[in-house]
Amino acid sequence: MSRHLQARKRIALIAHDNMKKSLIDWCKENREALAKHELCGTGTTSRLIREETGLPVKSYLSGPLGGDQQIGAALAENKIDMVFFFSDPLTAQPHDPDVKALLRIAQVYDVPIAMNRASANYFITSPLFPEAYDYEPHLVAGR
Ligand code: PGA
Repeated sequence: MSRHLQARKRIALIAHDNMKKSLIDWCKENREALAKHELCGTGTTSRLIREETGLPVKSYLSGPLGGDQQIGAALAENKIDMVFFFSDPLTAQPHDPDVKALLRIAQVYDVPIAMNRASANYFITSPLFPEAYDYEPHLVAGR
């Protein structure tokens, strides 16, 4: 089951509450690069990015109300190519099981997922970021 990433990628944006400002600022800094891709995100994060940057971002449900599960399902169904998830490592989250499930499914399908600002900077400046990229998720090969 190969993943065929087009030059225009389907990107999910998620930030826990304490990290929302950081992700929004990062989206502003990288607006030009992000504008070339199809963006989606959990409910509140996607709305705030739309309002603050003017970028079109499709909304899933809010994270605590099932948005992380929806994004996890979209990863498994090969409907999202990459995730930027600014998670909060210092605050307990009521939907921690959903967050864990999302991270697990991203690992299963070998989906690129940036969990902090430095990783996000590496992703967005990678020569692969604006290019098409095909790969075989090694854990699911042959299944
Ligand atoms: P939110 O969800 O964007 O709806 O706040 C993010 C999360 O907490 O997973």
